[in-house]
Amino acid sequence: MDFRFTPEQEAFRQEVIAFAKREWAPLGVPATAVGVLTGDEWDKCMAFRRKLGGTGWIGVAWPEAYGGLGKSVLHQMIFHEEMVYYGAPIDYNGYVVAPSLLAVGSEEIKRKFVGMTIRQEIVWCQGYSEPNAGSDLAGIQTQVRRDGDDFVVNGSKIWTSQAHFAEYIHLLARSDQDAPNHQAISYFVMDMKSPGISMTPLIDAGNEHHFNQIFFDNVRVPAGNIIGEWNQGWRSAMRGLENERGSNMLYIAICRRLFDGMLRYLESQPRTPVRRDAVMRHKLAQTAIDVEVGRMLAYRVGWLNMQGKPFNAQASIAKLWATELQKRVAQHNAELLGQYGALWHDARAPMRSEVSDSLFGTIPNTIAGGTSEVQRDIIAARGLGLPRR
Ligand SMILES: Cc1cc2nc3c(=O)[nH]c(=O)nc-3n(C[C@H](O)[C@H](O)[C@H](O)COP(=O)(O)OP(=O)(O)OC[C@H]3O[C@@H](n4cnc5c(N)ncnc54)[C@H](O)[C@@H]3O)c2cc1C
Repeated sequence: MDFRFTPEQEAFRQEVIAFAKREWAPLGVPATAVGVLTGDEWDKCMAFRRKLGGTGWIGVAWPEAYGGLGKSVLHQMIFHEEMVYYGAPIDYNGYVVAPSLLAVGSEEIKRKFVGMTIRQEIVWCQGYSEPNAGSDLAGIQTQVRRDGDDFVVNGSKIWTSQAHFAEYIHLLARSDQDAPNHQAISYFVMDMKSPGISMTPLIDAGNEHHFNQIFFDNVRVPAGNIIGEWNQGWRSAMRGLENERGSNMLYIAICRRLFDGMLRYLESQPRTPVRRDAVMRHKLAQTAIDVEVGRMLAYRVGWLNMQGKPFNAQASIAKLWATELQKRVAQHNAELLGQYGALWHDARAPMRSEVSDSLFGTIPNTIAGGTSEVQRDIIAARGLGLPRR
């Protein structure tokens, strides 16, 4: 088994690292969920994104005909891994909606939205979850009906990350009241400036405004914005989600950043007793192994994806491993810092508060994109062949 990347992939990794160090690191914006940035930091983030848009790397694995670079899924994973490692902002929504657009979108919306996504001209948000439909996503109740050349939408979405910044939402809504769930849902793009949209900010456990509840009151959407066929939105949206799951480096890259950040901090503190503490050293050694395991699990998914092999259970294993590991790394980092680990948004906090931030910030990743319990269910059913409950 050969775990090496090709020389060309290694060279690409170095190019991405150089870009992140040159264009992102000097801006001094903390590595955090993009949706919580405000004012000056948000402006810097968008200026960086425009430069990133010029590289074409957002669509590194997407077809050249639509502005992509036509390279492999592994290139996309390398790009993600390094950008996230250096704390640079990646809009993951683009990686959910664009594959669906490319697979089943009309030529017009494909050209329009995939191009704008690659050039980073727009911010997306994702309108899937509802107050009564999260893990059980097919139970959504937001309604869409046809009216002439438009669709009309009524209902509500919740936990919508960065909706307060977004220009477009990719939205799932119920388009048939009688058909079985998976043939009763349509998927489309909505302009967030459409009349009839209102929003309530939701403040998370870290006291940040990251997500929102959105309300739709007779919002009109041009019928041409549909992604795939009417009533076939479930399948269209799942293609995108599957694609995103098949190339996700976000979670393990965060683990690597938190872990390496702590190592660098300890290096800078030669007199700290924890460097010689047997228990702490063993925990650090164990974390080094766990992070490496997580990287291998994640790249294995990408490799299976590239070979056209099933990767469903493997993607759940990788997600579960990395997101649960994030929490352990965050807690261990806090232990290593002692009381300094609890300093939050304080000038004396080591590593720019990333340790205390991560104590809160790593918990939601075990919920977003499918909870840990749901991942275990997928592994049991699809990986181990156990009967569905
Ligand atoms: C940081 C963050 C950002 C998010 N951003 C977005 C976004 O931009 N757009 C969007 O649409 N959604 C977003 N979400 C919502 C996310 O997709 C849902 O929170 C997630 O799918 C879980 O749904 P729920 O919150 O309704 O919980 P529920 O599904 O109600 O689950 C509650 C509990 O029950 C457990 N449970 C549920 N079903 C099962 C089962 N079958 N077996 C075992 N246990 C089960 C769950 O594991 C959980 O512990 C975000 C969430 C977070 C945390």
